[in-house]
Amino acid sequence: MADTILKVDNINVYYGNIHAVKGVSFTVNEGEIVTLIGANGAGKSSTLRAIAGLVKPSGGSIEFNGESITGLDPTSIVTKGITLVPEGRKIFPDLTVVENLKIGAYLRNDDLTDDLNWVYDLFPRLKERSWQEGGTLSGGEQQRVALARAILKDAPIVVLDEATAFADPDNEAKVQAAFAQLAKGKTVLMIAHRLSTVANADCIYVVRDGQIVESGTKDALCAQNGLFARMWQDYQASVQWKVA
Ligand code: ATP
Repeated sequence: MADTILKVDNINVYYGNIHAVKGVSFTVNEGEIVTLIGANGAGKSSTLRAIAGLVKPSGGSIEFNGESITGLDPTSIVTKGITLVPEGRKIFPDLTVVENLKIGAYLRNDDLTDDLNWVYDLFPRLKERSWQEGGTLSGGEQQRVALARAILKDAPIVVLDEATAFADPDNEAKVQAAFAQLAKGKTVLMIAHRLSTVANADCIYVVRDGQIVESGTKDALCAQNGLFARMWQDYQASVQWKVA
């Protein structure tokens, strides 16, 4: 069985009187893709922000590679090897696509030609735009650069606040396939708003009202016939409706 790389144990996050994360516990094993899924305001981003040091949890603990990172500042957490890609398009607007991708890989000093070609194979549109400034790309293109850059960084764990939020429906399957390729063999913890994102996850945690209420693979959760199964049925129905 794979080693546990991240262990979140009974954390709580408060914003004043708002109790956003209520005793959340889960683990991420090395080399796995783990997703958090749930309605708006369920507490998914707050959980990721606590892991990245952007909010301080009250109580509980977070361990990375067996070492406590609870309450450390964001810079120390990045230095330990946790890369967070926040929601939205976070790339340097004045740098070109190539420069943005290279910055992602700045910790590595090997030749990046193969890596860049690999990114362009996955996202062909980025090749045509490699000399375009980041700020002039569309939202979906910027999201792809941010995603590719995070993966190129080769951090031990990549934490994504929604990897495919900007994909339009026609491109969604392509972005999914490219993401699966990019993430192969990496440890990824991500929030998924779209259910299609979670189909291949090693473990899905369903968050409701600040708590994890279900966990397992897509097939196991569908078999449980609970909240996830209902969400999945709705999603399937909407896809069929769209196709029709
Ligand atoms: P979404 O899917 O909409 O991004 P989420 O599951 O990621 O939602 P969070 O962003 O973690 O949810 O928010 C959880 C709760 O905490 C929400 O009720 C939100 O309004 C509240 N909240 C989040 N950030 C803050 C903040 N900085 N100050 C006050 N309340 C906040």
